[in-house]
Amino acid sequence: LMKTRGAFEKVEDLVRRYKRIDDEFYEELEDILISADVGVNTVMELVDDLRNEARKQRIENAHELQPVLSEKLVGLLQGKDEDTSLNIEDGRLNIILFVGVNGVGKTTTIGKMAHMLKSQGKKVLLAAGDTFRAGAIDQLEVWGERVGVEVVKQQQGSDPAAVIYDGIHTARARKADVLLCDTAGRLQNKVNLMEELAKIKRVISREVPDAPHETLLVLDATTGQNALSQAKAFSQSAELSGIVLTKLDGTAKGGIVIAIRNELQVPVKYVGLGEKMDDLQPFNAEQFVHALFA
Ligand code: GDP
Repeated sequence: LMKTRGAFEKVEDLVRRYKRIDDEFYEELEDILISADVGVNTVMELVDDLRNEARKQRIENAHELQPVLSEKLVGLLQGKDEDTSLNIEDGRLNIILFVGVNGVGKTTTIGKMAHMLKSQGKKVLLAAGDTFRAGAIDQLEVWGERVGVEVVKQQQGSDPAAVIYDGIHTARARKADVLLCDTAGRLQNKVNLMEELAKIKRVISREVPDAPHETLLVLDATTGQNALSQAKAFSQSAELSGIVLTKLDGTAKGGIVIAIRNELQVPVKYVGLGEKMDDLQPFNAEQFVHALFA
């Protein structure tokens, strides 16, 4: 988070320079938050809220306002009584569907999550449902070998819903706890992609009535406001249960977490902080905000 932290350090600098709060202070604060990709709508709401709070609590010194800002950010990121843990239960086959456009880090995230769940003692299986992108199946197999989990696959070009159907039956035969399903992420034909996802969901819920237990949208934090528009497009048709935000290690624009959470009302459940197996972490709003200002 070093780079994002750099962007937020400007808030601390602002607080030092201003001491007393005035309109210019708020304007500069808005600029800093926008440059960290918090998003214009969210920044406006946040700063309005902050002004009201300052008035109500009769806060005049900038350094007294900073904890209020942190608190507001945590509140925004947590929603109301929000649970960011995965909906995984013992004694059933848990099915997690991953969606998102190519290049965001979907395959890598599936590999990391397989590793995480395996080290928690779960038996994990992967289904290579991206039958469209050249190399996608191989790449998932590389992760399968690295982590030591089986990958269910068919040839490139085959019906992804059929691969996932296979995955469910294999998972049952192996008494697996969790099936992680990859899907295609081609953006060239959005209507087809959304229809494909709908078909996959139908097949899954026909086999396992309350599944998929999670539909996770993977987004690349370095793409900033683009990630936000992808999230909006997917949330319209895919009934998302959570977001995994990748590449937070490489961007000064981690404020996008705040924008996504505020504008979509879908929880950010995990964040990717690198390319290695262990670089996936559950998202924790307090820790995140603390790291920004620590
Ligand atoms: P997919 O097309 O969505 O399946 O994307 P990939 O999983 O192939 O990832 C695309 C690139 O992003 C690869 O080079 C990954 O190593 C890299 N990547 C994925 N997640 C992260 C992350 O959290 N941090 C960094 N720095 N790179 C990542």
